[in-house]
Amino acid sequence: MIKPTEFELIARLCKDLPVNPALLVGPGDDCAVLDVGIPGELLLLKTDAVVEGVHFTAQAMPEQIGHKALARPLSDIAAMAGTPTAALVTLGLPREFDPGVLDRVYAGMNALARRHQVAIAGGETTTSPGGMLLSISLIGKAPKNKVALRSGARAGHALFVTGELGGSLAGKHLDFEPRLEEARWLARHFEVGAMIDLSDGLAGDLRHVLNASKAGAELLLTSLPVSRAAKLAARNRVGAKTPVAAALTDGEDFELLFTVPSSQAVPLLDAWKKEFSKLRLTCIGRITTGPGIVLRDKSGVRTLNEHGYVHFK
Ligand SMILES: [Mg+2]
Repeated sequence: MIKPTEFELIARLCKDLPVNPALLVGPGDDCAVLDVGIPGELLLLKTDAVVEGVHFTAQAMPEQIGHKALARPLSDIAAMAGTPTAALVTLGLPREFDPGVLDRVYAGMNALARRHQVAIAGGETTTSPGGMLLSISLIGKAPKNKVALRSGARAGHALFVTGELGGSLAGKHLDFEPRLEEARWLARHFEVGAMIDLSDGLAGDLRHVLNASKAGAELLLTSLPVSRAAKLAARNRVGAKTPVAAALTDGEDFELLFTVPSSQAVPLLDAWKKEFSKLRLTCIGRITTGPGIVLRDKSGVRTLNEHGYVHFK
């Protein structure tokens, strides 16, 4: 039996899905988008699961597991420039578990939910034959004309990324803060073309944007904001990726990747520095007519052939 990749499996499952006139954007973006008749507003829906051994190990602190389980779908609401409202939590628990550990998982989740005014509105518990599974479904909203999709990148747009890239698995993936406030600010003040949150790695997620937008991109390798963790890993570990390769392909950065018309690039950088002085924003290239991703550095230009992180093997 040949096992499909994550993306082949999704394509297979999404064939001929039932629809409803309220559904504006189905599978293939960071959230589903629905128009349920609320004047001026659209609903956003998202579900996401973390599984012991895949998304966290037994060494992770319980608070971090709860935080990460909610932060991941919140990051997808951010990628639509939306505001999260409420969550439902499904817990799969081994037959033997420590209720005190679960209290700490919930403490991590609840603290993040409170910071973003997200109600935990219900849930379900079940037994898991393996390790712990924590699945969270989120509902959110966005103003009708401000929802940021993956399909909005146009040739000539400038390409931006928040924060720093690479080396997330050294720790950041358990502690990251979803960029909700930043994304809403962007959509309010600038013409965001396409936006996505980085979960599969810059190269893989940029490809998602380019496929949805039917465009290409040119990346300036020297401008990539490489994280300290990625630089340290390259220095200390034999056979580790170069820092630039880590920034391109490491998963779970959970930063925002987005485009704006090039005329807004400089005003955006100026306004960002005043609004979010503690978070880096970097212009890393531009959208082209394509196809594909071209890398530019001092030695010239080449085509990107590295792949993003694949979540299951
Ligand atoms: Mg996403």
